[in-house]
Amino acid sequence: MNKIKIYIVLISLFFFYNLYDQVEIGVHCYLDPNESLNNPSPLQKSMIIANYNLTFVLCVEQGQPTNFSEQYIDEIGFIADYFDDVSYGDITIDNVEVLVDAVNLDGSVEAFELSNTLVAHPSFGVDYVVNDNMVREVLDSVDQRYDLSNFDYNDDGTVDMLVFMVARMEVGKWGTGTPGLPTSMIYTTNDTTSSGANILIDGSGYGSRGADHALIQRKRASSADHIISITVHELGHAWFNFPDVDHSGTNQYDHWSFGCFDEMTNGSGFRSRPSLYNPIFRIESDWLTPIEITDTETIVLEDIDSTSQIYYYDIPDRPGTSVGGQRIYLTCYSNTNRWQEYWPIPASGSNQLGLMVWRENRNLNILNTWNYSDYQYSPVDIESADQRQLLFPVNDNYFSRFNFVA
Ligand SMILES: [Zn+2]
Repeated sequence: MNKIKIYIVLISLFFFYNLYDQVEIGVHCYLDPNESLNNPSPLQKSMIIANYNLTFVLCVEQGQPTNFSEQYIDEIGFIADYFDDVSYGDITIDNVEVLVDAVNLDGSVEAFELSNTLVAHPSFGVDYVVNDNMVREVLDSVDQRYDLSNFDYNDDGTVDMLVFMVARMEVGKWGTGTPGLPTSMIYTTNDTTSSGANILIDGSGYGSRGADHALIQRKRASSADHIISITVHELGHAWFNFPDVDHSGTNQYDHWSFGCFDEMTNGSGFRSRPSLYNPIFRIESDWLTPIEITDTETIVLEDIDSTSQIYYYDIPDRPGTSVGGQRIYLTCYSNTNRWQEYWPIPASGSNQLGLMVWRENRNLNILNTWNYSDYQYSPVDIESADQRQLLFPVNDNYFSRFNFVA
């Protein structure tokens, strides 16, 4: 097994600022800036161990090609592996379905086509992702074509998490997404439960982390990875109460804390392959249990994905000279799963091995802290990525907000 042996010298951690390069900005996701942050805590949402279902409604903007290959549709199913990997098996996706307008003899499909075009750069509001009238028209077609009781897996009268996905649109329009459906729409289908009640599509909680039954999103998705990346981001809000970590409810993207190493930023992963949720949020979800480093010692770090191993060290407070309450986490990566295939992990021959240092401000409740506008005091960020590589040209201030260890 690949391992990194490191000697921890507790008194000699030096931090300084450096540059790191990321891919282009992914998706403009933000929640209602006035959202109450009194949502149920993650543990109350019984997020530790859970089973879920996902039903995608695949659409394109008016005038875009509607045909998608069978392979493209099949690969959306990898989203189940994402949740299995990120939770070490605690989150199970039992069913992933993709609803379409037609299935062709060769296995390819035709997506639903919106009756109009999208707002190019929408501000937060009813047209933020897709106008509500266009959503209703598509749901009418879905209702005609499908028996939606098949997607109410627990027969409680509501379609399990429905994902309204616009996968093709004109170049230059923002990709956007948010939990819920426009105006928190409740759509009544003509299908019924076993007891005769009409099955609902429940889009309530639009633009907040309280939406538990529907998402809406749009992104020019040339591969299934694009769909998975935006979906796991929005589900991070809806299912696990995760906040956005790179902005604070406005349209200002002026900083990066995790960049493409985490899917709750708007980085959308390396080469659009979604990264797993950052390990600090995974600890909050009880999927990971960190081990404390308390003294100068030698530790052997092993791949986090195959061992779930993660260490932490609380930096002693120095009143008057530091902000205090700072915890760092150490993780090792050897690229053992699909979600790190394009990470810049250092390689020697076929061996890949990299160390990451993550930081958390323990003075803050990281799940309810949205202020990332001062990057030197952000709730969470990356301090170091071992042997960083330059993948993309430095052309944007967003990419200059990382701290790195020598
Ligand atoms: Zn978001």
